[in-house]
Order: sequence, then structure tokens, then C-alpha cells
Amino acid sequence: MSKDSPWPEGCRGALSLTFDDGISSQLDYAIPLMNELALRGTFFLCPRGDDWREGVERWRPAYEAGHEMGNHSLSHTCSRGFSDDPRATGLETMSLADIEADVVEAERRLSEAFPAEARAYCYPCYQAHVGEGPTRQSYVPVIAKHFIAARAGGEIANHPATCDLHYLWSWAVRGNTGAELVGLAEQCAARGRWGLLTFHGIHQGHLPVADVEFRELCHHLHRSKHIWVAPVAEVASAINAWRKSGGTE
Ligand SMILES: [Zn+2]
Repeated sequence: MSKDSPWPEGCRGALSLTFDDGISSQLDYAIPLMNELALRGTFFLCPRGDDWREGVERWRPAYEAGHEMGNHSLSHTCSRGFSDDPRATGLETMSLADIEADVVEAERRLSEAFPAEARAYCYPCYQAHVGEGPTRQSYVPVIAKHFIAARAGGEIANHPATCDLHYLWSWAVRGNTGAELVGLAEQCAARGRWGLLTFHGIHQGHLPVADVEFRELCHHLHRSKHIWVAPVAEVASAINAWRKSGGTE
């Protein structure tokens, strides 16, 4: 680790490939390619439903290949504004204690299936609040109690000295070209920052990025040794170590 950055020797920036909601095209398209090119990512899962046991078996090979199985909460609760039902419940009707119980139960299930020294969290729908109006408050402090890092939405890549590890910015990608994705990765290297890409479907499924475009990004990352590609918890832990060693001075 060099003094002026938390990245491994020779790397000028970092990138985390993150994937939400346990979509099966991630298993079919993203993971085989990433394994072939020795790229490891973070897959945010909601460990719920009758088929969770089955889910564990479907995701186990990815875990064993070194990918991070991230926490995406148990209930995936977002704003009730998404619903047309005036009686709908959502983050507005939840308390901090409700959120904590939800993520802690998700964490219990995930650590049983996929033990990890540290795990990242991902805010469903990029929303990190409970209540509304005068009672609205951030639930980021709850997450900071239980996780090494957490991913939200945002505009640019994160600076290792100034970023809030529990409210990391990420680029939501859908329908992007390979050249655009490579451009985002190269921005991280040019500015010494850590970018997080948020994927959903690959080639098919919700908000997809085409297989051929994803392939172009992965091959670029495999070839270019100046961008550190690693799961979210791993990069966060390198930043913590670097900050402790006085790296930001
Ligand atoms: Zn989600």
C-alpha cells in the first residue's frame, strides 16, 4: 500500500462492480465472465421468501469464487410513494427500530449461509430515511452500527479521504454502452477515486445492461492494471486501514 492512496501498488483508482436484487441473469451472464477474468464483485441479496434455502445453493458457487454476498435488507422496503394504494406502508411508516430489526435478521441469515469478516449494505431504492416531513430521519447511523460500508446513489466516484463509507455514491447503469462504462472506470483512475457501478439485469431482466457492453467493460478491467477492481467491503477495509495509518495527511 503506498502512502498517498489506499489502492494496491500500481493502481491509480478503484472500482466496485455491484449487482442488486439477486437477479438470475447475474448468475447466468455476469458471474461466469467475471470468474473467467478474475474480477470479483458484490452481489446484494435479500435473504427472504420460501426459496431462500434454494437461493443459498444458487449463490454458493459465487461466494466460493470470492464474490461478496452483500446485505440488501430482508424486506427491501422503499418509499410508499411507489404504490398507488393510499394505505400502503413503506419507509415513511417505519421506525429506526423497525429498520434495524429488518437488516439484522437479513444479516443473521446471510452470515449463516455466507460467513464474512465484513459485509457491505445496500439501501433499497437508494433511500436511507424513515418517517416523513417533521419525523423524517436518516437511517444511515443504524447501518453504520452493523456494516463496514453501504452503497447509496450519487453523481461521481468517491474520494478515499472524504467519502462517507456508510453512504457511498454509486452510478446506476442501465442500457449503457461498453465505451461509457469504460469511461466511468477510467474517471476513477484519472481522479484517484473509487467508483461503484450499480447493475441490475445483465443482458436480460430488470434495467439491463447488454451482455456485449458488460463484456467490453470486463475485458478492459482485466487488461488495465491501473484500476483496482474489488468488492465493496474489501475496498472499504483498505480505506479504513489507510485512514488509520494517517494516509489522508
Ligand atoms: Zn433493490
